[in-house]
Amino acid sequence: MSQQRKLVSIVAPFFNEGEGVERFYQALCPILNQVPNVGFEVVCVDDGSRDDTLKKLIALVGRDPRFRVVELSRNFGKEAALTAGIDATRGDAVIPIDGDLQDPPELIPTLIIEWQQGAEIVLARRTNRSSDSFLKRKTAEMFYRFHSRLSAIKIPENVGDFRLMDRLAVEALKQFHERQRFMKGLFACVGFKTETVDYTRNPREVGTTKFSGLKLWNFALEGITSFSYLPLKVWTYIGGIGALLTFLYAVFIIVRTLIRGVDVPGYASLLVAILFSGSLQLISLGMLGEYIGRVYMETKQRPIYLVRKHYEASNASLCPSVHGRDGGSSLVV
Ligand code: UDP
Ligand code: MG
Repeated sequence: MSQQRKLVSIVAPFFNEGEGVERFYQALCPILNQVPNVGFEVVCVDDGSRDDTLKKLIALVGRDPRFRVVELSRNFGKEAALTAGIDATRGDAVIPIDGDLQDPPELIPTLIIEWQQGAEIVLARRTNRSSDSFLKRKTAEMFYRFHSRLSAIKIPENVGDFRLMDRLAVEALKQFHERQRFMKGLFACVGFKTETVDYTRNPREVGTTKFSGLKLWNFALEGITSFSYLPLKVWTYIGGIGALLTFLYAVFIIVRTLIRGVDVPGYASLLVAILFSGSLQLISLGMLGEYIGRVYMETKQRPIYLVRKHYEASNASLCPSVHGRDGGSSLVV
């Protein structure tokens, strides 16, 4: 008797990728067709695109019943879009993949083979980052180094969201309810039996990256603040060292004054000390603000994402339905 056919869910977030949807379909389909004994569903998340991405994705659902579309009510960002997609999956394994084809679909069969051999998580590691700009490469490298120093959870270097997760790991991931989501960190948090395969990341063929400058900075900040509170604690030590140095300096000045009398000059050192301690206080306040802001956002318990409609082919007709993150009930409109 043949083994029961497993279902693998591919999850792809799309944000203003109109030009890329057809390419994605053309690249993905032949790969899915070549994997034996495995069924597929492809959950495409439209993250509030303002171009014709959604229209094109819905057209895919009509063409290929394996495709489903989750339309978010606005742009929630890639992390939330991925969460929405993963929540909507029904497969025995889930593979998040970028909609811009920068993660090569050709690797999917390899991920699945590792999974079939017993791995619960199969990481896809980039062997080079030549598709990224020099600056992005360097800053990413610095980020990983800094992050692994600060945080107890080690994020594997050069591993993005592209990976395979067994249903077990997916269910574990769903128990992380935090609103501010740094998916790479959360993925690393769940643990499980992990294997790694290497690949070369393709350059983007169409469209432009949605992550640059300030957005990447915020992303890095998110990564650090959600996994380490060392930046909060470090001020105690900096303050302590500063106080010690100040005390020594005070002793020195007092002794000098006693020996040599009142010494009027000293304006420069005074100003430097005031400015320095003032700026340290501002930095530490800012750091506090980063965390308090996040605590504030978490306490509001807002939903991570909101789904506007769900599109899937049921009996060859499109059937949109509405539901939110924790809603088991789905309202068919
Ligand atoms: N993306 C998204 N919502 C966003 C930003 C990006 O769903 O707010 C999607 C985007 O369409 C792409 C993937 O996330 O499929 C990766 O984004 P991008 O290529 O811009 O990032 P990069 O590869 O440059 O890190
Ligand atoms: Mg990309």
